[in-house]
Amino acid sequence: MAIKIAVIGAGMAGVTVARALRSIADISVFEGVGGWMPTRRIEEVVFDHGAQYFTIRDERFRDSLKAAQADGVIQSWNGEAGSLSGDGLSQRFQPATPRYVGVPSMNVLPKAMSVGLDIQLDEQVLAVTGENGRCLWRLVHWRPR
Ligand SMILES: Cc1cc2nc3c(=O)[nH]c(=O)nc-3n(C[C@H](O)[C@H](O)[C@H](O)COP(=O)(O)OP(=O)(O)OC[C@H]3O[C@@H](n4cnc5c(N)ncnc54)[C@H](O)[C@@H]3O)c2cc1C
Repeated sequence: MAIKIAVIGAGMAGVTVARALRSIADISVFEGVGGWMPTRRIEEVVFDHGAQYFTIRDERFRDSLKAAQADGVIQSWNGEAGSLSGDGLSQRFQPATPRYVGVPSMNVLPKAMSVGLDIQLDEQVLAVTGENGRCLWRLVHWRPR
């Protein structure tokens, strides 16, 4: 019998682990795609209001991004960063670590990485229940909207 794994949450962590495990198990991912890499549109203005950029510090994460990089879904971003104090922009600097963004917006990266995965859209997991002494787990989930 194939191993079944439920991944709770389809943010970057969820879609990354689901892709890494899909060759050894049947994976179901619960919830909509993106988590804290959302992009919003207000009239003509499109903006990322979660992560503005990300870094790659682990070679396994770099490997998992290769397809997205080849497809042009991510690119390096060399903009200046700044920090705010009470009276305005206090410091501008060029971070030393290479930074990346989704193209044209951050939410395209988790969306691209979720292609081919079994995503149970908008399903919220309420509980994980198990049976004593048995390696058998059940998810209690529902669709709030
Ligand atoms: C305003 C803001 C700015 C940020 N800026 C940056 C930045 O510039 N650079 C950077 O690297 N990081 C930044 N971050 C952090 C970055 O966005 C997060 O670290 C990253 O997106 C977390 O990914 P994740 O997959 O671990 O979790 P999340 O993105 O939080 O995804 C978890 C998902 O799981 C879902 N979930 C949770 N519980 C359940 C359940 N019971 N059932 C079903 N689904 C569930 C949630 O709804 C969510 O969609 C920022 C975050 C915020 C909020």
